[in-house]
Amino acid sequence: MVRHCGQPTLVSMNSPSKILIRFPNWVGDVVMATPVLRAVRRQYPDAHLAVFIKKYARQLLDDCPHIDEVIEYDADGEHKSLKGYYRLLYQLREKDFDLGILLPNSFRAAWEMRFAGVKRRVGYARQGRGLLLTDPIPAPRDGRKLRIVNMVDYYLSICAHLGCAELSRTEELFTSMESDKRADAILKKNGVKENDVIVSLAPGAGYGPAKLYPLDRYAKVMNALADRYGARVLLITSPKETSLADEISGDLKSKPVRLDGENVDLGVVKSLIKRATLMVTNDTGPRHIAVAMNKPVVVVFGPTSTVYTDVNLGKTIIVREEVDCSPCQLKICPIDHRCMERLEHGRVLAAAEELMERHVVSKKS
Ligand code: SF4
Repeated sequence: MVRHCGQPTLVSMNSPSKILIRFPNWVGDVVMATPVLRAVRRQYPDAHLAVFIKKYARQLLDDCPHIDEVIEYDADGEHKSLKGYYRLLYQLREKDFDLGILLPNSFRAAWEMRFAGVKRRVGYARQGRGLLLTDPIPAPRDGRKLRIVNMVDYYLSICAHLGCAELSRTEELFTSMESDKRADAILKKNGVKENDVIVSLAPGAGYGPAKLYPLDRYAKVMNALADRYGARVLLITSPKETSLADEISGDLKSKPVRLDGENVDLGVVKSLIKRATLMVTNDTGPRHIAVAMNKPVVVVFGPTSTVYTDVNLGKTIIVREEVDCSPCQLKICPIDHRCMERLEHGRVLAAAEELMERHVVSKKS
């Protein structure tokens, strides 16, 4: 169950009939916010529950049984212009929401809810937005300093403030039959058979290059897993990471399954990760999808703190090099990237083998 952040106050409220949840933007944060959907649905079983989310991330929530409506914010398309943006806000206003739950910390997210006429607006009082909220919740702090807490608990504490009784931390994602079929077709086209061991590798990081583990070392890990378990490599990369996929493909002994050139969205990525046996990854979004799919995961950490994501780690092994400068939370390393450069590939491989033996091989034998 959730450890509450800060000192949330239990408040009574009439049962809202229309609820809007503003979701965060990063893939990992979206997945870590999924327990909120379950908590809110159980607390308000008859309410209409809508989610407001950036367009590129919406497929993460596809087929979620707790949601009645998804409202897309297409920041790079139809809502990019001021006219398009305000059209969206007026559409929100027409929907007449009673309760708004703000998961991002931004001032703008609170202003949007206020502009859209959401009657009750609940979120953390950060970034000077307390006056825009009807229920400003104090952010967790140690004295004046913000306390770092895992994001699952951070989001669930807002639900605790609302009096939600079901505060399970389990992250959950769902896949559609259509996405599952498309994922199967991609694997089949690449010669992957039903019972093959598949290791999904996410070698990129939208956050910045400081999170990247050297590709040649990832290739050594993948080649060793191929030798030992006959593993096929599934490269999970975004359209912007084609050059990473090209580079590592050249170092792999056998042809990986690649997503560039395929018409995939995050719905298909979820289905592909669900089909995979194990994931090896930087501290990036696909890691959280794998956790929500209950997959064994090796996560290579460098500049970021493990505390933000220190939850649901039953099948996860974190590999990191202890260096004085970590965690720095920087996107670009200002020195020699020692947090990654000093990390031998053998440690990553050993973690992958441990998870294979613990969760996969023993089950098959
Ligand atoms: S400053 Fe240290 S922790 Fe940060 S990216 Fe560079 S080596 Fe890694």
